[in-house]
Amino acid sequence: MNLFALFGNPVSHSKSPLMHNLTFQGLNYPGCYTRYLLEEGEKLRETFFALGLKGANITVPHKEHAYRACDHLDVFAEKVGAVNTIVEKEGKLYGYNTDAPGFLKAISEFDNVKTVLFMGAGGTARSTSAILREEGYEVTILNRSKDRLESFKEEGFRTATFESFEYKPFDLVINMTSAGLEDDSLPAPREILDAVIPSAKACVDVIYGKETLFLKLAKTYKKSTKDGSDMLLYQGIIAFEHFTDHQYGFDEIKGFMERAFIL
Ligand code: NDP
Repeated sequence: MNLFALFGNPVSHSKSPLMHNLTFQGLNYPGCYTRYLLEEGEKLRETFFALGLKGANITVPHKEHAYRACDHLDVFAEKVGAVNTIVEKEGKLYGYNTDAPGFLKAISEFDNVKTVLFMGAGGTARSTSAILREEGYEVTILNRSKDRLESFKEEGFRTATFESFEYKPFDLVINMTSAGLEDDSLPAPREILDAVIPSAKACVDVIYGKETLFLKLAKTYKKSTKDGSDMLLYQGIIAFEHFTDHQYGFDEIKGFMERAFIL
């Protein structure tokens, strides 16, 4: 039996154990996935080995600790400095970032998209903006406070705070903040949202499991909307491919994993 876990703080709300266990069961793979509340990120590596894990996912706030805990990193994880999937092979830890390709796949249903507005400049915005740029999208980063924008600016992204933002049309408007996760707040001031939503082709939120006030507002403008469920599903499928050494195809895994969203 191969043991897998989710490390994070908190972890109790996560769907990942259900997603992976349903898939192990469906594919008759000898695996079991649990959750582990990790308070100190520095202890990730020793905890991984102490538990005898074959693989792990890492969620907030430990993705940078996970990056530092690995012996080998794939090119993209190395570039963005954040790891959400670890696999053990012959005593070494291999780190991957599956959030970003999962997000890219989730938004690929929208056609003719070139310009994207990200609201939020945290860890998720960092990895997803990098992959979008690699794919040829033009990403502008809007954030409440200035500090987190500095590194995006250095990497050549267009950035703005709420105060310095100047309106221009965007094909996609995306909530990459945690605003709306545990409250009913909007990710940006209403004036900015009322300016950018009408000209957008669609509005996307990375939050899942609830309809945020941002998506409710987008619907009042009759926009297509999408929450973070597909991103969660797709990052999980890609992680599962790594966990099982690419023995199964994407659609085969999807068929079992997506059941976690209707249970
Ligand atoms: P971080 O803590 O790294 O960053 C949070 C960001 O949100 C910052 O830019 C912060 O701005 C901004 N923010 C927080 N509260 C507010 C607010 N009330 N108004 C405006 N801006 C706010 O978080 P992550 O990047 O790790 O996560 C962001 C979101 O992505 C979370 O909601 C998380 O649940 C979701 N997520 C979804 C996944 C999925 O599979 N669907 C996968 C991973 C993450 P400031 O700099 O000013 O503090």
